[in-house]
Amino acid sequence: MAFENLTERLSKAMKNLTGRGRINDEDLQATMREIRLALLEADVNYTTVKKFVNNVRQKAKGADIMSGLNAAQQIVKIVNDELTATMGEEAVPLNKSDKIPTVIMMAGLQGAGKTTTVAKLAYKLKREDHARPLLIAADVYRPAAIDQLEILGRDLEIPVFSMGTDVDPREIVKAGLAKAAQDKNDYVFIDTAGRLQIDQTLMQELKDIEVIAHPDEILLTVDAMTGQNATETAQGFADALDITGVVLTKLDGDTRGGAALSIRDVTGKPIKFVGQGEKPTDLDVFYPDRMASRILGMGDILTLIEKTQREVDEKQQASQLEKMRQNTFDFNDFVAQLQQVQNMGPMEDLLKMIPGMANNPALANLNLDEKQFKHLEAIVQSMTPAEREDPELINPSRRRRLAAGAGRPIVEVNRMIKQFDQMRKMMNQATNGNFGGLEKMMGG
Ligand code: GDP
Repeated sequence: MAFENLTERLSKAMKNLTGRGRINDEDLQATMREIRLALLEADVNYTTVKKFVNNVRQKAKGADIMSGLNAAQQIVKIVNDELTATMGEEAVPLNKSDKIPTVIMMAGLQGAGKTTTVAKLAYKLKREDHARPLLIAADVYRPAAIDQLEILGRDLEIPVFSMGTDVDPREIVKAGLAKAAQDKNDYVFIDTAGRLQIDQTLMQELKDIEVIAHPDEILLTVDAMTGQNATETAQGFADALDITGVVLTKLDGDTRGGAALSIRDVTGKPIKFVGQGEKPTDLDVFYPDRMASRILGMGDILTLIEKTQREVDEKQQASQLEKMRQNTFDFNDFVAQLQQVQNMGPMEDLLKMIPGMANNPALANLNLDEKQFKHLEAIVQSMTPAEREDPELINPSRRRRLAAGAGRPIVEVNRMIKQFDQMRKMMNQATNGNFGGLEKMMGG
């Protein structure tokens, strides 16, 4: 699986901080050393690693304790933010010309996945935007490349322009563009030749095609499996051509992650798409933030943290967290918490964002919908103020009274109190820095 080692090593580095309220210099140093080694081992470019580690260190030092986030969680968030920034922050869309056709020229070494990517991307535009692309087969050095493109075009019902292997690729491109003008295609993809490594003849040919075709986009295809080499190749191409975007292929393979993390930083060129399989549909827009989460093996916990920070009144949240920590979280807080969570969207979706939470027995039966929530509220409202503050008081005879008061069966009252107890225990563990769920999810 892609990123496996990196994920494991990063999680291990940060796990050492689990349970700490504040981070001291020594802990930070040790963690940063581990993060640095993890990145280098994943084949991330040396300069990128240096910059990354410096930035994380600075941010960690300056970080104040945010309400509700302990040291380990804060470092996770800082590392996540920095991973996202390193990979370019935002998804960058494909360039589009004001007039038709938009010309997309492909470049890359042989075997990187150029031809496959042409078909995938053209198919995506056809599927999603009802585009009418034309594919120009200009890779005359690998005879199979033209056949391959023609077969893909036939399967996907996308026209392919080819003139065999005996014509100069420059001529093929000129004729192909004329054909596209005639047929009013809105996108033209030029599949160019690759070599096993960058050489002068290849670059000159590509430069000539660039001049002839005035592409709106020059997409460089690089194979993620080649790690550090992928970054060097990208730099080599970017030096010679006006590369506008990168497609990182074979991310479904056993890649260590170096290319995904280095390319943007080293070349300044955005990764626009990632190939994640051999099928025509296996191409995805590259979202730096989602890739960061994936590298950290964290599901959507960060979305949840941010959502919580955004939606929940900070002071109230801090006081509730303090109560959870001290195990004095009561039924008043329970209802307040449920109300907040309800405002944030479907409860189940939110809970599933918490690593390890999806399988938590305390939540298995919780499954709150609007109606059930009202029932829970009715039961809590039947409690005396003393009972709300001290759930221990609620003995069997009080439970019967609550059931009668709320008009709910006694089993429901019992179930709620049990769930409350489990929830309280779980919250207490979580707020005291128990990363059990996270560790499990990260395979630690
Ligand atoms: P080109 O020489 O650059 O045109 O490379 P090709 O498009 O022929 O791709 C080389 C090989 O890589 C082919 O076997 C493709 O099926 C495979 N390939 C391309 N992209 C991906 C990808 O994202 N994932 C996987 N697993 N294989 C890919």
